[in-house]
Amino acid sequence: YVNVTQLTKRFGDNTVFNDIHFTVEQGEFVTLLGPSGCGKSTLLRSLAGLNPVDGGEIWVNGENITHHSPQQRGIGMVFQSYALFPNMTTAENIAFGLKMKGMGQQEIQTQVQQVIELVALKGKEKHYPHQLSGGQRQRVALARALVVKPRILLLDEPLSALDAKIRKHLRQQIRDIQTELNLTTIFVTHDQEEAMILSDRIFLMNQGKIVQQGSPEQIYTQPANEFVAQFMGNTN
Ligand code: ATP
Ligand code: MG
Repeated sequence: YVNVTQLTKRFGDNTVFNDIHFTVEQGEFVTLLGPSGCGKSTLLRSLAGLNPVDGGEIWVNGENITHHSPQQRGIGMVFQSYALFPNMTTAENIAFGLKMKGMGQQEIQTQVQQVIELVALKGKEKHYPHQLSGGQRQRVALARALVVKPRILLLDEPLSALDAKIRKHLRQQIRDIQTELNLTTIFVTHDQEEAMILSDRIFLMNQGKIVQQGSPEQIYTQPANEFVAQFMGNTN
């Protein structure tokens, strides 16, 4: 699980978020939802250790990881853009993190094959990123995050570059895998419909604050304020 207290991040004199606090339970699928520029990516990158914070603490499974390096955190992340190594095949891209850990070749083979089946990329092992569709590339990115068996999975708009049909298919696939692995997950989107469909809970963010946390039903039927009602499209 993840527990965040009083988290603060500034770039110069621009405070991106301030006094963020929340808990995500083991195996829970939480969506961080909010308009463009509200601080979603910065918050996720801070959890992953890619953006040092200016205050507050991040705890994972009872361990304070606020000042740990990205590698030490046991957090897997998939970004908005694919960020695959263009000169590596599917299998090599997925194996990269395991090689860095010093795992043996045989064990790497086994682990890579397992996640390739999990994300339905069988037959694409030797393809390079430019030989894959957008959805397949995003599945490689997902496999690469999963193969290291992360304690937490962070997904930053992993579907935003995809067309509507593939997007719907892949988001359900991600949700099914997440459920199967009982993986604590924070999923970022600015699409309220996606958040409503997928989430155990939604954290609605605006201008660097989480303005409401709750189940999709709660957020929709009991909006905390006018912003939430507007954003969720429930203005009756
Ligand atoms: P989107 O939905 O468009 O992806 P977002 O909610 O992910 O938006 P962020 O990318 O977190 O928003 O940006 C939040 C704010 O932080 C913006 O005002 C942005 O300009 C600022 N910001 C983000 N990264 C940096 C950086 N490296 N240096 C300075 N300012 C930054
Ligand atoms: Mg973003």
